[in-house]
Amino acid sequence: APRSWRDRLRNSGFARGLGAVFVRNPKLDDDLLDEIETCLLSADVGVAASTAVVAGLRTRMHKRQFADAGALLATLRAELIALLEPVALPLNIETGAKPFVVLTVGVNGVGKTTTIGKLARRYLDERKQVMLAAGDTFRAAAVEQLRTWGERNGVAVVAQGAGTGLGADPASVIFDALQSAKARAVDLLIADTAGRLHTQSGLMDELGKIKRVLAKLDPTAPHEVLQVIDGTTGQNAISQVRQFQKAAGVTGLVVTKLDGSAKGGVVFALAREFGLPIRFIGLGESLHDLRAFDPYAFVDALLP
Ligand code: GDP
Repeated sequence: APRSWRDRLRNSGFARGLGAVFVRNPKLDDDLLDEIETCLLSADVGVAASTAVVAGLRTRMHKRQFADAGALLATLRAELIALLEPVALPLNIETGAKPFVVLTVGVNGVGKTTTIGKLARRYLDERKQVMLAAGDTFRAAAVEQLRTWGERNGVAVVAQGAGTGLGADPASVIFDALQSAKARAVDLLIADTAGRLHTQSGLMDELGKIKRVLAKLDPTAPHEVLQVIDGTTGQNAISQVRQFQKAAGVTGLVVTKLDGSAKGGVVFALAREFGLPIRFIGLGESLHDLRAFDPYAFVDALLP
């Protein structure tokens, strides 16, 4: 039977590492703090966030504010939640925009297409009318994956022509999709884009053009530029966000692959570095493995 999302996070490098630290070193001393810091760093929490959290704990410990390791753990929980609270802003598609337009961006392989399927499923379950636009016209697999997914779930997928949809102008595919979504009173249009990081200016040109043509039909679109990030890629995830933020004006993040062997800590590094809303997390390959980001539940699943 599939494990719960909580169990999947508990199995992460972060949770297992931290659990082991408190078993190995149940005493309240500097060794405990050093081990916690090492654990945060090796779970991809990043230097800035790890150092800040541990420095806060150390000061309190030296002021004798903790009765025991359990009390320190409670403060660690509070500090980790405090890092995430500012970025826990759920995606609200009920803004009056019809359709609400989500432009998904991110490099190939991060789970972008899967996330689009999961998002569509989620909003279909909320009885929204959903349409997809196959704006990644460079990968046959991406267009095919969206089409197959749409057929299986009864969701319209706008792609170029009847063929492979390859080589078409992504901006014109997405423009057609928005036109059609407006005509059909669709609630939510989710557009895929190509994830080639060939050059920064190429990416900027392409995404810029998509945004310009969308604005011709709806000056407020896109309403969300959602970047999908692979949670197993550590510092790479940080540099990807930096690049896409410049090229596309990212307004929200989805962190995928936090199940299984993922380290899990990159969510904290992203929160500290960018302060961008983390809308969802991906915890598996099936259509129901997407959760709205909840910092309390997330941190509780990671802590012993
Ligand atoms: P894209 O190239 O960004 O569109 O990536 P895909 O959506 O094709 O996903 C790449 C691979 O990652 C596929 O094998 C997906 O099943 C897998 N994947 C996507 N999201 C998750 C996730 O949250 N957890 C796990 N374990 N795998 C995922």
